[in-house]
Amino acid sequence: MARLFKVVRWRRCWQVLFFLWTLLVGVLFTLWAFAHLRGQTPAVNRPPGVEGFLPISALMSLRLWLAGEGVHPVHPAGLAILVGALLMSATVARSFCSHLCPVGAVSEWLGRLGRRLLGSTWELPRVLDWFLRSVKWLLLAFFLWAVLVAMDLAQVRSFLDSPYNRVADVKMLLFFAQPSRLTVAVVGVLVVGSVLVRDLWCRYFCPYGALVGLMGLLAPWKVVRDPKRCTNCKVCSKVCPARLPVHRLARVRSVECTGCQDCVASCPVEGCLRLAAARRRLRPAHGVLLAVGVYLAVTWGFRLAGHWRGVVSEEEYARRLREIHSPLYTHVGGMAPPEKEPAVRAPGPASSAFPARESSNLGLPPPGE
Ligand code: SF4
Ligand code: SF4
Ligand code: SF4
Repeated sequence: MARLFKVVRWRRCWQVLFFLWTLLVGVLFTLWAFAHLRGQTPAVNRPPGVEGFLPISALMSLRLWLAGEGVHPVHPAGLAILVGALLMSATVARSFCSHLCPVGAVSEWLGRLGRRLLGSTWELPRVLDWFLRSVKWLLLAFFLWAVLVAMDLAQVRSFLDSPYNRVADVKMLLFFAQPSRLTVAVVGVLVVGSVLVRDLWCRYFCPYGALVGLMGLLAPWKVVRDPKRCTNCKVCSKVCPARLPVHRLARVRSVECTGCQDCVASCPVEGCLRLAAARRRLRPAHGVLLAVGVYLAVTWGFRLAGHWRGVVSEEEYARRLREIHSPLYTHVGGMAPPEKEPAVRAPGPASSAFPARESSNLGLPPPGE
C-alpha cells in the first residue's frame, strides 16, 4: 500500500503542479488579452506558455526546424512544449499524457469521479471501442498530411508569418470565451461522457495523444513483467487505464500505454512489474523524475537559448487585437489571407477598413464567433 501511494503520489504531484501552472497561465493570458481587447494597457505580461495550446502552429514550426531553418520566431514556446512532450514520451512511453498533460489530468479526475459516483465507468463494446479509437488516428493522419504533404516549406513559413497565426492564441481564447452552441454542446458531451467512460477524449479523439503515442513506441523505458514472479492475479490489467492485458505481456509495447505505472504500483509482487530499458530497471519514482526531467530540460533549453518569448510585440498585439474580427484574421481553406495592411501603424482608433462590430459591455464581440 505504501508503495502504491508512493508511485501514484509522485506522478499525481506533477500532474497537479502542471495543471496549476496551466491554470495560472490561462488566467494571466485572459487578463492580458481582455485588457488589449478593451483597448487598455494590460497590467500583466503575456505568458508564452499559452502557446502549448497551439499544436498545429507548433507542428509547422517543428517542420521548419527539422528542415534546418531554425526556430521560427512566432510562438517559439509552442515548439518548445511540443518538442518537450515528444521527447519525454520517447523516453518513458507516452509519459506526457500521464504525467503532465492538463487535459489528461482533468479527464483522469472525471473518470475517478465517475467511479466514485457510479461504482465503475462503462466499457464500450469491443467493436465500438476499436472503431472509435481509429478516430484519433484519422485526425492525426489528416493533420500530418496537411502539414507535411499538402504544404511545401514556403507555405508553412507563410502560414507561420501570417496575421492569423500571430494572434492565433487570442483567436483560441475567443473561441472558448464566447463559445457557439455547438462548442458548448461538444464540450458538455465530452465532460459528461468522461465521467461515464474512462478517458473518453484521450482514448478516442485526441490526435496529440496519438502523436505522443507514436513517439512512445520508440521509448527505451517501458513496463516489463517478470513471468517467473507473476502469480497471474490480473490486478495490473484491471487497473490499466489503457485496458491492456498487462498480465499476459512480457513488455508493454502498445501505443496506448501512457507509462502511468498504475500497474506497477498495484502489482502485489515486489519487483514483478518494473519500468525497464534493456537490462536496466528503474524505481517507479525515478521513472517519473526521468520523464519530467526530459520535459523540463527541453523547455528550459529553449528558454536559455532565447526561444521562449516570440517576436510579436505588445504594440503589434494592441494594434491587431483592435481589429481581431477583420477577415485578415480568419483561416481560408487552412491558409491565412495575405496581409494588405502595413506591418506597423501608428496607434489610433480602430481601423476604419474593418468597422467595429457591435460590442458587449466587455468590449468584446457578441457570442457565437
Ligand atoms: S491523449 Fe491528448 S488530451 Fe489526453 S493526455 Fe494525451 S495529449 Fe493530453
Ligand atoms: S499484478 Fe503482478 S502478479 Fe498480478 S498478474 Fe499482474 S504482473 Fe502478475
Ligand atoms: S497501467 Fe501500465 S500498461 Fe497500463 S497504461 Fe499504465 S503503465 Fe501502461
